[in-house]
Amino acid sequence: MLITTKDLQHLFALIAEGIAAQRDHLCELDGAIGDGDHGLAMDAGCEAAAKAVGGLDAAQTAPTPAFNAAAKAFLNAVGASSGPLYATAFMRAGASVKDRSNLSDDNFVRAFAAMAQGIQERGKAEPGEKTMVDAWKPAADAALKAWASGTALPECFDMAERAARQGCEATRDMTAAKGRASRLGKRAIGHIDPGAASAVIIITAIAKFVQQHDGYLIIPVDM
Ligand code: ADP
Ligand code: MG
Repeated sequence: MLITTKDLQHLFALIAEGIAAQRDHLCELDGAIGDGDHGLAMDAGCEAAAKAVGGLDAAQTAPTPAFNAAAKAFLNAVGASSGPLYATAFMRAGASVKDRSNLSDDNFVRAFAAMAQGIQERGKAEPGEKTMVDAWKPAADAALKAWASGTALPECFDMAERAARQGCEATRDMTAAKGRASRLGKRAIGHIDPGAASAVIIITAIAKFVQQHDGYLIIPVDM
């Protein structure tokens, strides 16, 4: 099951759709422990990324430049801290599949893990510090582990999605060691981290993409 640049256009559209639907909710979460702009930032970034990737000639563009276009558009559209974090994630995804004209399942799992690692390295946050890393890291670990033990791609991403949800939920009981919420000390307890919540939305969109992609290849085209 190869993933082409045309498929990546669909993926970025799904991500933008998922974030747009939760824009106000993400702003509310950020309003509680940050400056209230997280939904606006993610919506602007994801819409810009989807537009940039969607505007490419998919037949003439390899996955790496498509991810790079997403990174650049996201960074330009977002002034908040999520800007460089996701720009790095998309750049790393692109770098992990360099010189490939389309992606195997293995490439895709590794690109996903590279996103998580990029976010962690760029922001220097460890799990437990109440950031998006608390959703991304367990999701990437779950996908890599399931993939290594021979699990089919849709199930790997189903597990990644569940790990992300659990990781996000766990941020509720944490104090923040990174970002704006770190200034609140114990007052941050009781609130979910907005970046972890948007990470769940993105990872859910990726899981949905994988499931759709897998599904539409099983259906015979002449039916
Ligand atoms: P800002 O705080 O600049 O307004 P956003 O509202 O877009 O940025 O994003 C806030 C989110 O960014 C936080 O909820 C957290 O998940 C994430 N974040 C902040 N700093 C870091 C970091 N160093 N590493 C990883 N994620 C971070
Ligand atoms: Mg904010």
